[in-house]
Amino acid sequence: MTDLLLHTCCGPCSTVAVPAWRERGIEPVGWFENPNTQPPAEMDRRRESMVRYARAAGLELVTVAGEEASGWRRWRERLGRAVPEERCAACLGLRLQAAAAAARALGFGRFTTTLTVSPYQRHDLIVAAGQAAADRHGVDFVYLDVRDRFRESYAESRRLDLYRQPYCGCAASKWEAWHERRARRRSA
Ligand code: SF4
Repeated sequence: MTDLLLHTCCGPCSTVAVPAWRERGIEPVGWFENPNTQPPAEMDRRRESMVRYARAAGLELVTVAGEEASGWRRWRERLGRAVPEERCAACLGLRLQAAAAAARALGFGRFTTTLTVSPYQRHDLIVAAGQAAADRHGVDFVYLDVRDRFRESYAESRRLDLYRQPYCGCAASKWEAWHERRARRRSA
């Protein structure tokens, strides 16, 4: 029996986050909801990748049916015009509030997130958003820094043939990633 709900952003990050919890003697239950991901086809690819990983790893996974449409509209209405730092803080808040609410509704005492695998995320914002969500919903937020295994997630994704996304999630991050790749190519 577990008391930890694991918000999962994608299959590739889960390949190292889930083992990190298991090595600590904790079997998490995965929970997938990421309405920040655009366009809907990209959301479908990430969810499919997450489901494939869960099957391969024997991870119990809860996915939120139909959330991509309503959740995406809510995300765009609230964050679509924000500057990057405000946008990311609010985006993390939206997802971790939903995770905390789900943890409470499903009877878990605490929750965490696979977002802490990424060295590209602001971990101070993740912690602040997680704590605020925990306070609001009456559960605990547990932070585990898994950045040292980020590279390992590349190898595991290849081994399991998982789709690995080239940008964070929102339309703005897709655009930013495209510009960064182009700048790298030009300077090479
Ligand atoms: S860059 Fe990532 S964390 Fe920031 S708003 Fe976009 S999807 Fe959310």
